[in-house]
Amino acid sequence: MCRRSLLAVLTAAAILFPLPSGLAFAAAKPNIVLVTLDSARADHMGFLGSRHKLTPNLDRIAAQSLVFDRTYAQAPLTVVSYASILSGTYPQTHGATEFGAPLSNSVPFLPDILHSAGYNTVAFVGSIELDPRNGLAPGFDRGFNHYSAAFRQPQPGQGRPAAVERLGSKVVAEANAWLAANSESPFFLWINLSDAHASHSGSYDAGITSADAAVGKLVAALQAKKLYDDALIVVASDHGESLGSHGEETHGVFLYDETIHVPLLVKLPQNQNAGKRVRSRASLVDIAPTILEVAAIPVPSQMQGQSLLRIAKGSSSADQPVYSRTDFPQRAFGWSSLESWRAGKFLYIRAPRPELYDLATDSGATHNLAHSSTAAAETMAAQLEAFDSRLKNQGTASDTGLTASQLQKLASLGYVGLQKSTAGPNATAKGSDP
Ligand SMILES: [Zn+2]
Repeated sequence: MCRRSLLAVLTAAAILFPLPSGLAFAAAKPNIVLVTLDSARADHMGFLGSRHKLTPNLDRIAAQSLVFDRTYAQAPLTVVSYASILSGTYPQTHGATEFGAPLSNSVPFLPDILHSAGYNTVAFVGSIELDPRNGLAPGFDRGFNHYSAAFRQPQPGQGRPAAVERLGSKVVAEANAWLAANSESPFFLWINLSDAHASHSGSYDAGITSADAAVGKLVAALQAKKLYDDALIVVASDHGESLGSHGEETHGVFLYDETIHVPLLVKLPQNQNAGKRVRSRASLVDIAPTILEVAAIPVPSQMQGQSLLRIAKGSSSADQPVYSRTDFPQRAFGWSSLESWRAGKFLYIRAPRPELYDLATDSGATHNLAHSSTAAAETMAAQLEAFDSRLKNQGTASDTGLTASQLQKLASLGYVGLQKSTAGPNATAKGSDP
């Protein structure tokens, strides 16, 4: 994108996305609860249109939240996606992988920032993958006062579930015991529920129901302590689950909606904007900067997500492109990494054999138009390429001729990466061997 068109984007941005205003938060530092449901598909949530009644507790939170209809994960992989959620950066910036590459200290990390701002920071996680000591997420405990992930590596012959996953009911029981014993505010409480991922309960749907029931117990405990109404509560999933679509059983290899479209709820303090639905696309990288914004803590310039409050206030006709990638096919099988770009009505996937789907008429992404709709495919490819090279070049004010505040605005719109991180390609390569 040349400088002139960047400025055109800025002008359009100023018109379409005035800075958020009109939201007033009584407490400068609200308690913050981040609930992550591992592997929860958007289309299994009642508040997103599922008729299967799997999520009554989440539906009740949704009635008091901003509901983002179209939120997309930046990767279909647990560790990579949580690194994006907690750092507000894209996978190629934070460098975390499913193969134990540590989260670099140079990457901004929400719990660390909140801790520095005076928050009591605690985590209760249900997946061994997120155990910094015995799992695949070294560095994830940075900034936490308490990080409960008491896993041990499975021994040969042990079944996977008992050794590597904890039921949501157990995770929430521990969190509620902590809540009962601690009234020190403000706190940041992260609850990770892996029931759907583990499918202890036999089926995927039962796993969703089990996670939802655990959420209900957490909400009851918050309400009993009169902490619910004033808290900022964010509910999201790290990725979905293919369940056989496109020939994939679980997640990690492909970038279709089954694994990339995820639920996202933002319950603001005093339940402001309760039940408001947001149609514009949102990304999981947007969560960390939004939490900081609500807590009135400056957002580090390295964070690449944008304000969900701004998206919620934006014109519903404004298109918000979304970028995702997976390096798993390359790292695990020596295949190609995949990247996707969702814009307008299209899903474009950059692969050795490119794919283009018109999601307005083909929501299951079954009919590849890359060779029949070549103009659309080329436009999508060019947009993806421009986004990619901006992340790679890590443009700064001095080398683009734009001012820091102009770049900040572009970054908030998802057009440019601002970070100057040491966790680039080298950090990614190091320690990445399976
Ligand atoms: Zn996961």
